[in-house]
Amino acid sequence: MDPIKNHKTNSIPAPEPEKTKISLSQSYASLLNGNSEWVKTQLTKDPDYFTKLSKGQSPEVLWIGCSDSRVPANEVTNTNPGEVFVHRNIANVCVHTDMNMLSVLDYAVNVLKVKHVIVAGHYGCGGVAAALSKKQFGLIDNWLRNIKDVYRLHSHELDRITDEEQRVNRLVELNVMEQVYNVCKSTIIQNAWKERSDLQIHGWVIDLKTGLIKDQKVSSSGPRNLGYVYELDDVEAAAH
Ligand SMILES: [Zn+2]
Repeated sequence: MDPIKNHKTNSIPAPEPEKTKISLSQSYASLLNGNSEWVKTQLTKDPDYFTKLSKGQSPEVLWIGCSDSRVPANEVTNTNPGEVFVHRNIANVCVHTDMNMLSVLDYAVNVLKVKHVIVAGHYGCGGVAAALSKKQFGLIDNWLRNIKDVYRLHSHELDRITDEEQRVNRLVELNVMEQVYNVCKSTIIQNAWKERSDLQIHGWVIDLKTGLIKDQKVSSSGPRNLGYVYELDDVEAAAH
């Protein structure tokens, strides 16, 4: 018996999608309608827009931002699809055990050859506010522990700020600076800096009340400020 044919005969058919049982909400339907409108608008501006877009990407920027729905990378920087490679998570945390973040960083730096990695936080960040509190929210508490560690490093400063909003916003800034430092400490960036002089890491905070970006002026283009604890020799040298 033909094993392939037999396999086909005995295969279990995929379940039919429930075409009529799900009633679609207005908010869901509006997404697809919005897509149709967007396609029309883009084609009106440039009939070849999608032909060009589908050919590939060569972004010069990697954006590591917060998942918050109010801080989309393209909109706040007035850039177009294809210009910014994006990774987002709650409170723009960059930790060296996060395979998702590391994979995005490695691909952006070593394959796409981006020139700028930007860690972008935002004032009023709910994740940062939660890390300052003693409330439990579930699984996310383990993720936010990374920000509590930043709080611990700067508790002497933060605990002196009596206004709660100001205290959250200061930790937003300190968190961005710490995550920039974490990116710089990674083997990916340290090794890239050994070969390239055109790779910069930056820290930004978006002010949702004005829409404006505040550069935290912690940009790095080399390992000068890493500190001896985190500086790494190259792999060959370490093996001898
Ligand atoms: Zn946030």
